[in-house]
Amino acid sequence: MKRIIIHWTAGTGSPNSVDKQHYHYLIDSKGKIHNGIFTPEDNLNCYDGRYAAHTGGGNTGSIGVAMCGMCGFKGADNVGKYPLTRVQCESMFKFVAELAKKYAIAVTSNNVMTHYEFGLKNPKTSSAGKIDIIHLPPFPGVPKDKIGDFIRNKIRWYLGK
Ligand SMILES: [Zn+2]
Repeated sequence: MKRIIIHWTAGTGSPNSVDKQHYHYLIDSKGKIHNGIFTPEDNLNCYDGRYAAHTGGGNTGSIGVAMCGMCGFKGADNVGKYPLTRVQCESMFKFVAELAKKYAIAVTSNNVMTHYEFGLKNPKTSSAGKIDIIHLPPFPGVPKDKIGDFIRNKIRWYLGK
């Protein structure tokens, strides 16, 4: 596996059956990790149709990790009824650190990124304009273009433990 892409589901605080088709791992609002239908290895070959389609233009070799929530998000002052929680974010940081270790993926902006960052880097894909993750409700002071770095720093902290 070459990279990890971090999302929110834009749903409620729990995974549904569609979410489980689209992401390898889902983290609910309480921080519990749920397995999707497909394994990361299913995304090594995306030509057979049996893979988790989480990042348009970037699914091959990519592990998709999603935090459940953010349905109804309109902006920092209107996050909707299912904002990401602190315990959920911490669980994600820790879990992505474990994945990075397991698959020997370096925690850099080229290999571990949000869907939003992937869209910025790949403006001709259907991932362009994706808003996950431009706001972290438990960490409202982090501006949208620093969220990727913020998340990677947290992951590196868990890697060093
Ligand atoms: Zn996404």
